[in-house]
Amino acid sequence: MLIVSPYRMALDPAEVASGRPYPPLGTLVSAAELRARGLPVALFDATMQPDGKAFALALSGHRPRRVAIVSDPHSVPVKMCTTAQRSAALEMVAQARASGAEVLVAGPDPTDHPEPYEAAGASVVVRGEHDDAVVAFALGEAPPERSGRPNRTDLNALPDPAWSMVDLPAYAARWRAQHGRWELNLSTARGCPYRCNWCAKPTWGRSYQYASPERVARQIEALRAGPTPPDGLWFTDDIFAVKPAWLRAFRDRVAGTPLPFRCNTRADLVREGAYVSDLAAAGCTEVWMGAESGSDSVLAAMDKDQTRADIELATQRLRGAGIRVGFFLQLGYPGEGYQEALATLDMVRRLRPDEIGVSVSYPLPGTPFHEAVRASLTRTHWASAMDNEVLFAGAFPQPFYAAMRELLRAEHAWLSFRPSLDRRGLRRASALPWHAARWPLHRARTAWYGRQS
Ligand code: SF4
Repeated sequence: MLIVSPYRMALDPAEVASGRPYPPLGTLVSAAELRARGLPVALFDATMQPDGKAFALALSGHRPRRVAIVSDPHSVPVKMCTTAQRSAALEMVAQARASGAEVLVAGPDPTDHPEPYEAAGASVVVRGEHDDAVVAFALGEAPPERSGRPNRTDLNALPDPAWSMVDLPAYAARWRAQHGRWELNLSTARGCPYRCNWCAKPTWGRSYQYASPERVARQIEALRAGPTPPDGLWFTDDIFAVKPAWLRAFRDRVAGTPLPFRCNTRADLVREGAYVSDLAAAGCTEVWMGAESGSDSVLAAMDKDQTRADIELATQRLRGAGIRVGFFLQLGYPGEGYQEALATLDMVRRLRPDEIGVSVSYPLPGTPFHEAVRASLTRTHWASAMDNEVLFAGAFPQPFYAAMRELLRAEHAWLSFRPSLDRRGLRRASALPWHAARWPLHRARTAWYGRQS
C-alpha cells in the first residue's frame, strides 16, 4: 500500500514565507503502525514537492493496489484546508484512481466535506480519526463505521512516527536556511476538552487523550540519539499539558538537559505561577496563546472561558519565567464593533507580546459560529492562507479588517522591537521602515470606518 500526505507547502504562501515545514505526524504514525503489523507500505510525502509530478512517478514506481491519502490532523495548515490544498488532494485521488488503485481518503477536510473526494474516485472517505480505518483498508477489510466507533484511548500503544520514511535532512535544511536551527513536531495528546465555539475539532471533538510523560520523554531521547537530531520541538497539541500533574511529571523526566520547545497554551493555565515554573523547567522557550481579543464581551461571545485579566496575568508570569509569548488574535467575530477592535489594539500596545498572528474570524463547519453566520456566508474556504477575507456579513466591510490587521502588525512591530543581531532581529529591523511608512494610512482608514459605525 502507498500511504500519502497530500499537503504541499508550495501552495501555501504564508507557510513558504515562514519557512517552518513539519513532517506529517499523523500520516507517519499510520505508516509505522502498518509496518509494525508486517504490512508492506511505502510513503509519499508531498510537503516539499513543487508540483504534482513526483506523485505520478511514485504511482508508476510502486504500482500500489491501495492508496491511502491521509492529511495530518495535527497540522494547523492542514486543518485550515484552503481551496488550493483541496484541489491538489482531489487531483491525487483522481490520479491514484486512474492508475487502477483503490483509494482511501482521511483528514479534517474529507471529514467535513466528503462529497468532492467521493466524486473524485475515493472508495473510502474516513470521517474523524483515521488509524483503525487505514489498517482495515490495508488488510482489504471494510473500514469500521464511524457511528459508535471509539477513538483510540491508549496513546502509549501507538508506534512512534516512522521518521525514517520521510526526508528529515530536507526538512532540517529548509529550517536551517531560514532560521539557523531545526525544529521537529511531536504530539503528546489528541483532542481538546475546551469549548471555544468557533474552533472546529473534526477529528477528535472534545475528547482528550494523552500519552504518558515517560513515553514522550523516551520519544525525545530517541530523536536526540537519531541521525538527524532536532535543535528544538514544536508540540502540536491543541493545548499542551492540559493537566498540571502531567507537566510536573514530564518536567521531572526531562530535568537536567531538556530539549527547548514551543507549544500552544491557554491563559487560564499559564496564569498559575507553579505551572509556568514547571513549563520553563521542562524546556519551554515560547508559547502561543489564543488571546483572540482584548474585549471581555467578545471573549465571552466566543465561549473562550478566559478574560483579558487572565491574559494580562499570564503574560506577566511567562515573561517572569523567561518564556517568549505569542498571541493569536482574531478580528471580526460577531459582537465585535469598533470599540472592541480598539480594545484588542490596546491589549497589544500594553502587553507587547513577542509575536502576534492576526486573522479574521473563519467560520469552520460544525461549529456554533459557523451555524450563526451560515445564512450570510459568501463562500466556504479561503483560496490561500494569505486570503484573510471575511467570509460572512461582518460589522464592517473587508477594507476595515485589512487596515486594522495591518495597524496591529505595524504597532506590534515597533512596540515589541528589541535590537538583536540574530536572523530574527535583523529581519524585524529591516521591516520597521515599511511599517512606519504605512502606519498613518492604516490608522486613518480604521478611524474613518470607526466614525461611520
Ligand atoms: S481554540 Fe484552543 S482551547 Fe479553544 S477549543 Fe480550540 S483548541 Fe481548545
